[in-house]
Amino acid sequence: MTTENPTQPVVDLRSDTVTKPSPAMLAAMVAAPVGDDVYEEDPTVRRLEEMAAARFGLEAGLFCPSGTMTNQIAIKAHTEPLSEVICEQTAHVYLWEVGGIAFHSGASVALLPGQRGRLTAAQVEAAIRPENVHYPTTRLVCLENTHNRGGGSCYALEDLQAISDVAQRHGIARHLDGARIFNALVATGQHSEDYGQYFDSISVCLSKGLGTPVGSVLLGSAAFIKKCKRIRKVMGGGWRQAGFLAAAGIYALENNVERLADDHRRATRLADALRAQPYVAEVLNPETNLVIFRLADTQPAAEFLATLERQGIRASSFGPQWIRFVTHLDVDDAGVARVEAALSSMSE
Ligand SMILES: *Cc1c(COP(=O)(O)O)cnc(C)c1O
Repeated sequence: MTTENPTQPVVDLRSDTVTKPSPAMLAAMVAAPVGDDVYEEDPTVRRLEEMAAARFGLEAGLFCPSGTMTNQIAIKAHTEPLSEVICEQTAHVYLWEVGGIAFHSGASVALLPGQRGRLTAAQVEAAIRPENVHYPTTRLVCLENTHNRGGGSCYALEDLQAISDVAQRHGIARHLDGARIFNALVATGQHSEDYGQYFDSISVCLSKGLGTPVGSVLLGSAAFIKKCKRIRKVMGGGWRQAGFLAAAGIYALENNVERLADDHRRATRLADALRAQPYVAEVLNPETNLVIFRLADTQPAAEFLATLERQGIRASSFGPQWIRFVTHLDVDDAGVARVEAALSSMSE
């Protein structure tokens, strides 16, 4: 990449997945006791799985390479062909997982329009199929918290409870794509232990805001996780001395959760800076660490991104004229100040 000042570090706002493990995290990884996880002999993987499950009030965990894998394993375990999954129309499980629901599970999807990605209990209830030979059988409702496409939006606990009640009344399983669940918990002050009662399964990413190099955990009942372990194996996800990676997850759960509040504060700063620019048409209020905004029609998006890039700042295109900034543990206050300066310089 060519930047005007090649000595300054890149401020990479494309995603919270771009972080590199800190020296302390690497030290914890190197020191981890490990074994063959397919033989269930890796003590560090077991510790991570137990620790994560306990935090969310669920029985068991399954450590996997990615959040796509944990989501897709859960969906497959909850459904069968000729059944249907209810989710929001911009849900990651539908939009960004390669059509995996059709491929892995042979299931249909009922897509609902949410408010910044959030569904209501009434919407979910109305989407549940009555028994009829023409219809797939509704088996699962899948929620996302925080919601990526919704700009890091969070659910209120009452709304999760109401959706959970509807699902239970109709005998439908409840899955949470909690790729950024810790951002939601830190932003709202909700407690992770409360989540186990509202969901049969939860997928948690360790490689987003928590800053590990690799990994997600799927949480659920012991019987559910046993079933999921077979599905992980058939997907080629049985791994061996994965404890080195699990150790990064344990380190992250112990050290990198509370600091997410710093990312949220920096996202708010960036949103304020964007609102002050005449070439920005709209900024979604950042509830957590994602800032999604729309450029005015007079400001071509490609030119905007190229101007930032020349100043060592990277961001993602998020649809025509839409851009996403993501704060994370490798973006500090000095980095935010550089972005503020670059944004102001464009309106001069
Ligand atoms: C990133 C993400 C995932 C999983 O992504 P992987 O890259 O497969 O780990 C799932 N859901 C949401 C909402 C995400 O943002």
